[in-house]
Order: sequence, then structure tokens, then C-alpha cells
Amino acid sequence: MTGDEQGWEACLDADLPRALYLHIPFCVRKCSYCDFSSEPVGRETRQARAYADSLAAELSRLSAAGLLEDVTTAYVGGGTPTVLGMRLCSLVGDIRRAAPGIAELTCEANPDTLVPEVLDGLVEAGCTRLSVGVQSLDDGELVPLGRLHDAATAEDALRRAVSTGLAVSCDLMCGIPRQTPVSWQRTLSRAIATGIVHASVYPLTIEEGTPFSAAVEGGGMRRPSDDEQADLMLLAARQLESAGFSRYEVASYALPGFECRHNEAYWTGVPYLGLGTAASSMLGARGYRRLRVLAPRLPEAGPRVSRVRLTCRSAHSRLSADPSVSAQSYELEMLDARQAAAEDLMLSMRMVAGAPEGLLAHARRRIGAQAVDEALARVVGSGLARWSGARLVPTHMGWLLGNELYGSLWELSEGTIETRVYEP
Ligand code: SF4
Repeated sequence: MTGDEQGWEACLDADLPRALYLHIPFCVRKCSYCDFSSEPVGRETRQARAYADSLAAELSRLSAAGLLEDVTTAYVGGGTPTVLGMRLCSLVGDIRRAAPGIAELTCEANPDTLVPEVLDGLVEAGCTRLSVGVQSLDDGELVPLGRLHDAATAEDALRRAVSTGLAVSCDLMCGIPRQTPVSWQRTLSRAIATGIVHASVYPLTIEEGTPFSAAVEGGGMRRPSDDEQADLMLLAARQLESAGFSRYEVASYALPGFECRHNEAYWTGVPYLGLGTAASSMLGARGYRRLRVLAPRLPEAGPRVSRVRLTCRSAHSRLSADPSVSAQSYELEMLDARQAAAEDLMLSMRMVAGAPEGLLAHARRRIGAQAVDEALARVVGSGLARWSGARLVPTHMGWLLGNELYGSLWELSEGTIETRVYEP
């Protein structure tokens, strides 16, 4: 086995998670397009602080059990973590104490709640990256999105964050109402000019149950076409690349050395632990067994299971009352080695670097060389991927037709994933 292949095997065999995610399921109010797990609660409420206290208690329990010893990246996302105000800063301190091996610690923030004292507190507590939800720097576009900030507030938040020395990322969205190619380019230039080192660029999707979905169904709003979205994504790629950013994942661009290691973990088979409402964890069978020591009533993983994914379905009120792993509801997916290898192959196609030789060798070993090589020949033959030396990398068409590319590789998984529901 090559070292690279051993790395992929080691991810599956890992005893412990290497990445940690905390979900803060609160926002000041709900945006018009959003179906994320978040509840509008206004600013710095008691219930949000109680929830943070519970997460902190669970972190120290997991840490005492040795489960966070290998964690090197952490991400506090939402929702809007900055609705916690100064409690977010102390939560960062709680994370640092619970997992001292962390090298990269990211917090999501929204411009309207990123007040100066919270920003300073985050730096002091050991946050290293900030991911700011900006979406647009055009006031006429921000209003229909239902965002609480205007363009000037967002630019100011980005500049202030950059001036602290944090690695600052900016989330931007294309295909939104009133946006034109010209206004999109203006948003990109203004964002780049603030000094950000990373940008995540997403096309608007119309999610069921949102005000945007009702507006589309009622005829009051037009759904952006795939072609329009693809053109706007291409404009973003050109503009960011001409400013020195490199695309490293389908939606992510970074200046050299500023890629988000935590997000890379999700696409490269690295085991992660998620805490909080709607948070997902992905653990190898051994890592899952370690977690079960704390929650023995979680379903046992049978001998064929190589990977377990758990998504927490508890409401935040239950987590606040008792944050322990064993007290939560989970949906579980149990994958065998073949399914896990097919999943890794599929996820690697989100990355510009694609599937390295070691992953391909690992997939051949777990799935069978003939089946893998036939699937690779099919995606290359249909123009969805290409060879770059010994790596399989996605093409531009592969990203545009992502579902086709991912589906072709996922077909290698065979069989149905075993799903379970756990209620305490
Ligand atoms: S701030 Fe983010 S998570 Fe909250 S409602 Fe808006 S888009 Fe959703």
C-alpha cells in the first residue's frame, strides 16, 4: 500500500474524530430563502445562552473521555453564531480547552451581529478564521433576501475583521432577485477589496417552505435558470482568479495557503464529530465504538459496518436541558467498506484536486478494480472528469452536471445503506 492509500484506510480505521463542528440553531430573524436549521430568536437571548452552556458542558465531558484528542480543526456554524454575543467568545475558549490540539478554529458571523467587542473577544479567545455571511454588497438585492445588514455594514464588518489578522472568508450568492451580471461583478470587487483571503460562492436555490418558494409558486418571482446560474458562477471564478484566488472546491476560493482545512475534511473522508441540533457526525466503526462508550444505548454497528453517520434530531430545548450524547435523538446511516469508498470517491469530485492515486487504489481494493476502472472510464468518456497524471479530476462540465458525476460514482456503492433511528 502507498502512503497516500494508507491515509485513506487510516481515516476509516480512525479511533477518534479529527474535526469538530458545533451548530448554533438561532438567528435574529429568518432570511427569505433559508431552510437551514435555525430559529429566529432576536439578539442574545437567554435560550441561546443556555444552549451554549449545554454545548460547553458536553464538550468537557467528551474531552474528559478522550474523544477530542485528535481534533485539529473546529467550526462553529449556524444559524448565526454571533447571536450569542460575548457567549460565543467564551464558547471558543471552551472549545480550545476541550480540544487543545486545534490548529484552525472558524466561526461563522453575520455583519449585523459582529459588533467590535465580539470581534475582539473572538480573536482573544483563539478563533483563527471568520466566515462572514454577506451574500451581496448591493442594497437593492439585500432587501428581498431579508438580510438584516446593508452593504456598508457588511463591508465595514469585513474590513474590521481583516484588520484583526483573522483569516476572513465571505459568503456570496448569485442568481438572487434584482441581481445582474454587472451588480454581481461589483459585489465581487467590493468584497475582494476588503482584504478577504477566502470566498464561498453559492447559487441561490429555491427551498420548499420558504417565502422565496411561495413567491415562485405564486408567480411573483422567477426561478433563476441553470444557465444563468452557471454564467454567474463562471464570472465569479474569473474575477476571483484574476485577483489571485484559486478555486479548490466547487464553491470555495482561497488565496494561497488560506484554504479552509475544516471544510476540506468533509470532502476527504476525515472523521468528524458534530454537536448540537441538526449537526452531523461521521465516524469510522472504531470511532463510533468509542462514542458508544458514552452512549451505550446507541445501536451497535455490525461487523460489516465501516462508517457511521449520525445526525442529531433533538430540538435545541432538549439539548439545553440535557446535552449528553445519549440523551439525543439521531438518524443513523451505517455504511459498509464498499459504500464508504464509493462515497469518498464521489465527494472527492467536489475538490479541484479530485481523487488522488491513493484514494483510487483504496477504492479498487474495497470495491474491486474492474468495477472502479469501468466507472472511471465512463465519467471520463462522458466528459465529466479527466485524468491529470494519476489523479482523476472533475471537469467544468462535471461541476455543472454535478449530480450526474456524483451519481455515476455513487453507483459503485451497491446495496442499500442501513438506516436506523435512535430515540433515548
Ligand atoms: S442568517 Fe443564515 S441561517 Fe440565519 S436565516 Fe439567514 S441564511 Fe438562514
